[in-house]
Parts: sequence; C-alpha cells; structure tokens
Amino acid sequence: MSSSVTLSWGSMPSGMSLRENVNFYLERALEKLDLNRTFPRKDIERRLMEPDSVVERKISLHMDDGSIVYLKAFRAQHNNDIGIYKGGIRWDAKVDRDEVEALASSMTWKCALAGIPFGGAKGGVAVDPASLSAAEKERLAKAYMRAFNDILGPDKDVPAPDMGTDSQVMAWMFKRYTELCGDRIVPGIVTGKPVELFGSHGRTESTGYGVVLCAGQFVQVKGARAVVQGFGNVGMHAALKAHHLGARVIGLIDPAVFGGALYDPDGLDVPAIVSTLKKEGRDAVRSRWPANEDPEKVLAGECEMLLPCARENLINSDNAGRIKAKAIAEGANGPTTPDAYVALHKRGVVFVPDILANAGGVIVSYFEWLQNRHEEYWEAEEVLSRLEEKIVRNARKVAAYARERGVDIRTACYMLAVERVARARLYLGAQ
Ligand code: NAD
Repeated sequence: MSSSVTLSWGSMPSGMSLRENVNFYLERALEKLDLNRTFPRKDIERRLMEPDSVVERKISLHMDDGSIVYLKAFRAQHNNDIGIYKGGIRWDAKVDRDEVEALASSMTWKCALAGIPFGGAKGGVAVDPASLSAAEKERLAKAYMRAFNDILGPDKDVPAPDMGTDSQVMAWMFKRYTELCGDRIVPGIVTGKPVELFGSHGRTESTGYGVVLCAGQFVQVKGARAVVQGFGNVGMHAALKAHHLGARVIGLIDPAVFGGALYDPDGLDVPAIVSTLKKEGRDAVRSRWPANEDPEKVLAGECEMLLPCARENLINSDNAGRIKAKAIAEGANGPTTPDAYVALHKRGVVFVPDILANAGGVIVSYFEWLQNRHEEYWEAEEVLSRLEEKIVRNARKVAAYARERGVDIRTACYMLAVERVARARLYLGAQ
C-alpha cells in the first residue's frame, strides 16, 4: 500500500529537537482539524500542545567506590484528560527536559489513538546506564521512586520501562514504593514488572511484536526483506516476530551489541542470535557473528521493510536521500525527522508512524495494570491475542480515516488522537 497523498507542508526546517518534531506533526493535525473554529474561545489547541507539568529533581547517587554523583531526573506529565498519566522511564546520557516533554506528549497521542484510558507522561534520568554496576542501578531506581513518589501512584501516574531500563528496574521501583506505603503491596504502581512479580506475560515482547503486527496491515511481511536498527528490547522482539512471520531479516544494526552491523542477503538466524545474546552475552554474539558491514550502508540498503527501533532522529536529512526501503515501521519514538519524512514520503515510502506502530507496549501495560487491579493473571496466549486484535483494529481504523480525510497515515494518527482528547477536554470543562 503506497500513499497517493501529497504533503504540501512548505519549507521544512532541519535540526529540530524531538519536542519540535512532535509539535510539528501535532500542528499539521491541528491545522486540519481546526479545533478553535469547532470549539470557539476554548483555547483548546494551546491546552493540547503544552504539558500539564514537568518536574525536575536532583538525585544524589552513592557509587560503589564511595563517591556521590548528582544526576538530573525528570517526570513530565503531558495530559490526563482521558486517563491517568502513563509513560516509561528512560536512562540515557542525553535525557533532558525537552526530550521527556516530547516523549510525554507522544504518549498522550499514542494512548488516545490506541483507545486505552491513559494519559501521557515520561520520566528520565540523565545517566549512561552502561557506566553503572547492578548495585548502583538498584540504588538509582529506588532513589527515583523516592524522589517522585508524591506525583506517582497507581491512580495518578504509572511508569514503565523505556530505553536503558527494564523489568528489573521496575521491580526495584515497585519495592521502594511498597516501603513508602508502609509495606502495603501496590502492584499497579509500575508496569513492565517481571512476570514472577505481578508482571504480565507478553509485556517484554509486546512493543516489538506490535511493530511487526502493525506493519503487516500496511505491507506484506511474509517474504519481505527486513532491516532492524537497534537490538534492545524493541528491536530484538521486532526482529524475532518478523522472522517468525516469514520475513527474511537481512540486516541488524546495533554498534553496542554487535560492534557495528550484521548483514546477510540470505537472512540472519535471528532466534540463534537472540538465544546466544540472552544466555552467553554480547561477547559470544560478536565472536559467532562478527560485524561485517557498515551500519549506514545496511540502513540504506534495499529492503521491503526498515524497522528503526533504536532512538530518535536517526533517519534524517543526512541519510534520507540514500534510504531504499519501501516501507518504514517506526519502533522507536521519533526516529524520523520531519524533513526526512517528507522527502521519503514523496518517494512513495510507506510509513507506519511511531504512535501507531509502537503502541503494543502501552497496550500490554494497560493489560498488566488491569490484571493488577483485579488481582487476576492472564495466560500468555490471551495477552498476545488481545494485543494482536487491538493492533489490527487500530491500524485498520487509521487506514480508513486517512483515506476518508485524504491525509497521510501520520497526520491521520494525530488527528484521531487529538479529536479524542479534545472531546474529553470539553466534557471536563474549564476548571
Ligand atoms: P533499549 O535500551 O532496550 O535498546 C535500544 C538499543 O538501541 C540499544 O541496544 C542501543 O545500543 C541501540 N542503539 C542506540 N543508538 C543506536 C544507533 N545509532 N544505531 C543502532 N542502534 C542503536 O531500548 P528499547 O526499550 O528497545 O527502546 C528503543 C526505542 O523504542 C526508544 O525510542 C523507546 O522510546 C521506544 N519504545 C520503547 C518501548 C518499550 O516498551 N521498551 C515502547 C515504545 C517505544
């Protein structure tokens, strides 16, 4: 399915921040919806653009060698008009206020589009997690929960894993919250917990699986040549799902995992790579599958499906001209800059945008939160089949809306999401 819609968005600035990128797409949707005309004098557009709050706190982390480092930590709460704030916690050296605001805004639109009763939030700590020992990570997770415990809560704002954090980090946060509640167990305080500790089956693989299931509504996955950028939680499970659905995964790019990129035109043995990584670690992967190609070359190579699952802005004006993929399904948040998006869209590249493609994680987070509330636990098959049903239904809804309104898929996603939140906002009134 290629798009016949022409984007006439005027001159495209490059080098924008992630927040400017998200707001750029949001503004295109707002222009189309013209909410200020439909709902005069409500100032609704400004209300939807700006976060409700952004809290910045300093965490003093005691290091194993006895020293103390001071880290900037954030929680951005963008909008809770349709449900409690919800969003991951990122540990990454580049985390700043602008980034968490952008990611919190994306969460608002992702949840609204997915039709789940959550608002948008995001947290982060400016730290390189690779530089921390396991004990330091545990202290950081617990310190974060202590620092933000006044604004977090199972009925207020519920964190989850994002880049640099995982189910272990969520377990530590859950433990600290339990202590802060006088040992009352409140499993719904975070999602993405280990299955053994009130977590949900399917949560770990949900985002990556969802990316491929969603892509399958726009392109033929079986037989497609696929390239995956980023081999962390999202990329690994996207590559596995693509492989299991009959795609030929010809490229895997992750400098930290592979020391570069792996390329094999006959298809890489993704299950073997994943199993080696999990059981024996990166060194074993690197010795059995040495990096054999330049990452930018693999990214630009011919394929039917490119899955950017690493981080923001990696498809940009510098490399867009070289990219030959026929479709791009965005596992990462904001992997494509608006100028690159317009250039690639013009060349007929099919985009499955982030707020649609990577919603699998928050959908299963919602299932986890529901299971915790009702003290019930669902089998893996039930979680994954509910996930698939929701992903497929949402993708079809967006495709139909885009056709009906004559807009590209990305604008359709934002329009549907914004309409939903704007209507809720009006019911809620001004104060
Ligand atoms: P992760 O930390 O598990 O993995 C990210 C991987 O990307 C790492 O292995 C890292 O080495 C790699 N990477 C970083 N820069 C790279 C580059 N330039 N080229 C290739 N690889 C690179 O993080 P994750 O949880 O998989 O998240 C990845 C992206 O997906 C982020 O944008 C995140 O916000 C988004 N996302 C995650 C979830 C989730 O459930 N974890 C849900 C929705 C969206």
